[in-house]
Amino acid sequence: MGENCIFCKIISNEIPSQKIFEDGNTFAFLDINPASKGHVLVIPKKHYETLVDVPEEELKQLIVSVKKIAQAILKATKASGFNVLQNNGKVAGQLVNHIHFHVIPRFENDSIKFSLRANQVETNELEKIAELIKKEL
Ligand code: 5GP
Ligand code: ZN
Repeated sequence: MGENCIFCKIISNEIPSQKIFEDGNTFAFLDINPASKGHVLVIPKKHYETLVDVPEEELKQLIVSVKKIAQAILKATKASGFNVLQNNGKVAGQLVNHIHFHVIPRFENDSIKFSLRANQVETNELEKIAELIKKEL
């Protein structure tokens, strides 16, 4: 259990939530401030901070739960699509330091915008960073 972790407290029922799903190592509940109707958070029951901290086997089960829950959300809300969002680190917008996948149903004209700046860079810049990353794999 993460010290003073809101999501650990939700799992242990110390803090109430609208639970959607639970199995051996996954827990899913409604986001308290939903970006759209049916916005769900899917988390591992064990406290890990970010994606890279989750052991592979648990991560596999977690992503399968994300899929299962996304399918249920699509049916229940009649959404036309959904975003899976997963922030790692404060700089990336992670506010709760217990890893979580947001599943956000999308509707026509819902005015949600995830905007990324499309920077122009030289090919050799792309090559350089590709090499640096590949070396670490
Ligand atoms: P992050 O920015 O860390 O990716 O997202 C954290 C999410 O957790 C936010 O969307 C926020 O609304 C949600 N959240 C924070 N506190 C609570 C809570 O006590 N209950 C529920 N259900 N959601 C919460
Ligand atoms: Zn936690």
